[in-house]
Amino acid sequence: MTLRTLDSLGPLAGKRVVVRCDLNVPLKDGQITDDGRVRASVPTLKELLAQGARVVVISHLGRPEGSPDPKYSLAPVGQRLSELLGQPVAFASDTVGESAKQTVGALTDGEIALLENLRFNAQETSKDAGERAAFAGEIAAFGDAFVSDGFGVVHRKQASVYELAQALPSAAGKLIVEELGVLERLTTDPEKPYSVVLGGSKVSDKLGVIDHLLPRVSSLLIGGGMLFTFLAARGLPVGASLLESDQLDTVNGYLERAAELGVEIVLPTDVVVASAFSADAEHEVRPADGIEDTPWGAKGLGLDIGPETSARFAEAIRESHTVFWNGPMGVFELAPFAAGTKAIAEALTRVDGLSVVGGGDSAAAVRALGFSDDQFGHISTGGGASLEFLEGKRLPGLEVLGWQA
Ligand code: ADP
Ligand code: MG
Repeated sequence: MTLRTLDSLGPLAGKRVVVRCDLNVPLKDGQITDDGRVRASVPTLKELLAQGARVVVISHLGRPEGSPDPKYSLAPVGQRLSELLGQPVAFASDTVGESAKQTVGALTDGEIALLENLRFNAQETSKDAGERAAFAGEIAAFGDAFVSDGFGVVHRKQASVYELAQALPSAAGKLIVEELGVLERLTTDPEKPYSVVLGGSKVSDKLGVIDHLLPRVSSLLIGGGMLFTFLAARGLPVGASLLESDQLDTVNGYLERAAELGVEIVLPTDVVVASAFSADAEHEVRPADGIEDTPWGAKGLGLDIGPETSARFAEAIRESHTVFWNGPMGVFELAPFAAGTKAIAEALTRVDGLSVVGGGDSAAAVRALGFSDDQFGHISTGGGASLEFLEGKRLPGLEVLGWQA
C-alpha cells in the first residue's frame, strides 16, 4: 500500500473534513514568535476550502497536563491562521464539548473552525488504546473524512494521529506529502556528494541517525555540544564542555565504521571556549587539542565551533549536492556563540542541489538569525518525526495512512 492522498477522499464539497495540523508554535507572552508551522499548514486548508468543504482544524500546543490551561490556548494561533487564510476562523473554546459541537454545527461550505488544544484532554496521549479510541470517536463525530497533515506528530501513536485515522475515511494532506518527498530524497539515491551536518546538544539524541545515514553519506560534519564527545573519544581533554562519557565507546565505533566505509567524519579543528555559560562571559578561540589551555583551564566551556572549522564546514557544504543539517553548531541563543550556526546556515543557502534543515531548534535558529525559509530547499516542520524517519523507524501516523517504507 502507498500513502493515501487527498484525491482518495473523493469530492469534498459540502463534506465536513477534520484536519489534524501541527500548530505547536513557540509563544512568548501570548505572541507567536515563529509562525512557520501555521504557514506550513495553509496549503492543505486552502485546497479543502476551495473545494467547498467545511473544515474543522485540530492541533496540540505545548505540553499541558491533560486539562485546560489558558497558557496553552490555541486562540492566538486561530488569529494568525485567519490572517494567513484571509478569512475568519471560528474558534471553539473546548475540543469535544458544547462549544466545539456548536462551532462545528454552524459551519457552512467553505468555512473553517479551529478547536481548542487536543492535549487539554488526557485521552489524547493516553497509553491506553481504548481511551484513545474513545476520544478519537468523539472527534470523528465532527467529520465525514479525516486529513492528517501534522507531520511533526506522525511518530506518535496518539488519538488524533492514529486512532482518528482509523475512525474515518482518512488521507495525508499536502504538507505530509511534501515532507515525505524530501526525506525520501535524503535516504533513497541521494545525489552525491552528500553531507550530513549534526550538532545540537546531545549525541545520544542523534545516534540512530548517525547509524542509519553513515553508509549513505559522503561526509558527516560534527558540531554543537556533541562534538566534545567525539573529541574526547579521540583522547582530547574538553574542559567543562558538554560530554556524554557513556557514549564514548559508541562514538569510537562510529569513527571506526566510517573509516571502513570510506566516509569522512569531519571534526572541528578549533572551538570557542568560554569562562561561563552566559552572553557576557569571556571567551577565546582555541585549537581543538587546546581546549583547556585558557585562563579557565579545565573549567572552560566549548560553546561554538571556531572560525577555521566554520570555513571548512561551509566549503564542504557548498560542494555538496545534497545536505541535511540537524542541530545548531553552538549555543546560538547567546549572540557571541551564534557565528558557527550562522556560517553553516549561510553555506546551506548556497547549495547547488537539495538543502534540508531538520529539527525544531535548528529551524528556529535559521529564522532567528535572519534567514528566510525560501533560501533553503526545505525546512522540516517536524524535528523528532524527521529524525525518526531518517533513522529508518516505522512511523505509526504514516502507516495508518497506508504508507510503507
Ligand atoms: P534540534 O531541535 O534542532 O534537533 P537540539 O535540540 O538537538 O537541536 O539542540 C539544540 C540546542 O543545542 C540549542 O539550544 C543549543 O544551545 C544547544 N547547543 C549547541 N551547541 C552547544 C554546546 N557547545 N554546548 C551546549 N549546548 C549546545
Ligand atoms: Mg530541540
